[in-house]
Amino acid sequence: MRSILITGGNGGLGSGIGRYFLEKDPEAKVWLGVRSNRSTAEALEAEFPGRCALIDLEVTSKESWETAVATITETDGRLDVLVNNAGLHRDHLLATMPDEVWSSVISANLDAVFLGCRAVIRPMMGQRFGRIINISSLSAILPPLGQTNYAAAKAGVVALTQTLAKEVARAGITVNAILPGYIATEALAHMDEDAAKRAKAGIPMRRFGTPAEVASAVLFLACHDAGYVTGSALKIDGGIF
Ligand code: NDP
Repeated sequence: MRSILITGGNGGLGSGIGRYFLEKDPEAKVWLGVRSNRSTAEALEAEFPGRCALIDLEVTSKESWETAVATITETDGRLDVLVNNAGLHRDHLLATMPDEVWSSVISANLDAVFLGCRAVIRPMMGQRFGRIINISSLSAILPPLGQTNYAAAKAGVVALTQTLAKEVARAGITVNAILPGYIATEALAHMDEDAAKRAKAGIPMRRFGTPAEVASAVLFLACHDAGYVTGSALKIDGGIF
């Protein structure tokens, strides 16, 4: 059995990654971190009884991380994979960006990854094995205007990933980042038809990606045989960059 924790487990990408593990890896036991919304995660739990569970996890809270990781390691005796997927964007031009819009985006996208990585390092070191996959964004390297907060946070996730990878390499723990471009989830729901059309025109593949197309890379980075891949930043964007 492999114990896997995915934050933002009720969201489009988080639930998609959870489903992919459950369908493709018979050894996977998936913990879906949830905050307010739970219906999609509960449906997965019902579909895969005994192999999928919900766990309350507010990723900006140190205490919430400590409780969640303790629950998982007490239940499963281990924690093999952490997918830091929870995140949000609140776009705003910098000149008029309220302090709270800046700090909430930095907190949910960057502080959360720091807290999550720190919370799992000890159990992973104890088992001399771990896989951490941080979901960054193409915005980290190709930011659209209005995303100073989000782009700075996601670029920070890449830098954190590359640094931490060096710190834990000898403990059998790999740390990698994925930079998705446009992936068809609720996060794109704000786009009207015209905006979606314009966005697709800028993608060489002329379409948005699917959660499964990101999940397949997560599954690879999480597997035993990917043990020499660490500190990498893999973009999945249909060829935009
Ligand atoms: P969704 O909006 O569908 O899901 C986001 C998830 O994150 C939700 O489950 C949400 O919980 C959770 N979340 C947000 N803040 C917190 C918090 N403080 N504590 C706990 N959970 C939190 O978005 P996606 O699935 O599309 O995005 C997943 C990740 O992928 C994000 O990090 C995003 O930045 C990144 N990404 C997405 C892209 C896309 O095109 N979809 C492109 C590039 C990167 P709740 O439901 O309770 O609010």
